[in-house]
Amino acid sequence: MYQAVIGMELHAQLLTQSKMFCGCSADYWEAPPNSHVCPVCLAMPGVLPVINAQAVEQTVRTGLALNCQIALWSVFARKNYHYPDLPKGYQISQYELPLCHDGSLLIEGDDGQPKRIGIRRAHLEEDTGKSIHVDGASLIDLNRAGVPLLEIVTEADLRSADEAYRYLVKLRTILRILGVNSGDMEKGAMRCEVNLSLRTAEQAAIGQYGVKVEVKNLNSFKAVRDSIAYEIRRQTALLDSGGQVRQVTMGWDENRRCTVVQRSKESSEDYRYFPEPDLPPLELSSEWVEALRATLPELPDARAARYVGDYGVSARDADILTTERDVADWFEEAARAYAGSPQEVANWMIGQLFALLKAEEGDIAALPIRPADLADLITLVDRGAVNRNTGKKVLEQMVVTGQPPAAIVEAQGLAQVSDETGLAQVIDTLLAANAGEVAKYRAGKTSLLGWFMGQVMKQTRGQAQPDLVRSLLLARLDQ
Ligand SMILES: [Zn+2]
Repeated sequence: MYQAVIGMELHAQLLTQSKMFCGCSADYWEAPPNSHVCPVCLAMPGVLPVINAQAVEQTVRTGLALNCQIALWSVFARKNYHYPDLPKGYQISQYELPLCHDGSLLIEGDDGQPKRIGIRRAHLEEDTGKSIHVDGASLIDLNRAGVPLLEIVTEADLRSADEAYRYLVKLRTILRILGVNSGDMEKGAMRCEVNLSLRTAEQAAIGQYGVKVEVKNLNSFKAVRDSIAYEIRRQTALLDSGGQVRQVTMGWDENRRCTVVQRSKESSEDYRYFPEPDLPPLELSSEWVEALRATLPELPDARAARYVGDYGVSARDADILTTERDVADWFEEAARAYAGSPQEVANWMIGQLFALLKAEEGDIAALPIRPADLADLITLVDRGAVNRNTGKKVLEQMVVTGQPPAAIVEAQGLAQVSDETGLAQVIDTLLAANAGEVAKYRAGKTSLLGWFMGQVMKQTRGQAQPDLVRSLLLARLDQ
């Protein structure tokens, strides 16, 4: 058994109007190739970059939301490397003095307890252009070159694929609430890198680490989870057979569902970082930073605390319900529409609705039903109009058809049989047809009550009110 030691880097495109160091529009999606470019982002000789104030503001707000220290004095640096989609031959980034550092994010750990994931740094840099390969030719589109990128780097605090997944989901929620990133991974607005090593318990005890492998360009949270799980399996098998892990950079092959070696790992020395000579150090005032802090919106942890305090929802459920904003909004709307305890709404959402969504790989925002429809369904169950099991089936149909619960109950005759006379007839017929079982029951085999109950439920297609069936049965059997 090995312990996985995992760190994450997330690159998030900021939702600024213009690019990081020039006035070109940063909203390049579906624009004709090379239409959002100027001498600065085309890297013409003699041009000078100008720092985008909106990108700085969005980065500082993110840093504050991630409990980071904000550097009032930070420095941009040149990261030198050659690549066709990088016309300058270097990327302006931050290296030794990032804008935000030493923060944290709370997630649910694998043991179900809250776990603090350290945020080592969050810094600003610029995106590269895009190479497009068609018919043996390579084309370059520089619309993306210079779009502001926020890089968020964790400490190696994650221990499993699931923890990494939960970290990303919560981080994306925070970025969306702040309005700094679209969260749109299909459009490349968020890209992830994972670094991972395995170590034995003995190594862990003396603070040693195994050899680290990097997996780059992960374009979905699922790819992150799958590639981590794969690497843990691969490295475990390798170490178990006496092999050694090589320090390499890998990619994730979605079709073959495995990691593939891309190159041997480069070290920071390879990039020859040095302070960007064309930009002054970035100086911020603490008053400005504090003013931003005062305007931060309600973040997931605060929202969870409010659900516990205002709605009486359990702490664990409150965490689950606030990790994604759409889910949190949905819960709150349903809880307001429902007259009973909000915890009941939480139970139905987490216990039933999430299972249905998971089975369909669906998204709560795309559900054809409204939160008030769930509130109506729970009310029908509370009133005894349908029993809980029928209620679950009605919810399944609501999710598929988008029909309100009352219409489904009505159309399918699912209303609970709570009419005593009707039930009594069913029971009398049943007992008359099973005189032998009745005799056994009366002779002391009282466990047969469950069998009688089951028969009645079967004959009423599960719609009888169980408490009523039980009392009617007992009244007759114990005569
Ligand atoms: Zn430009």
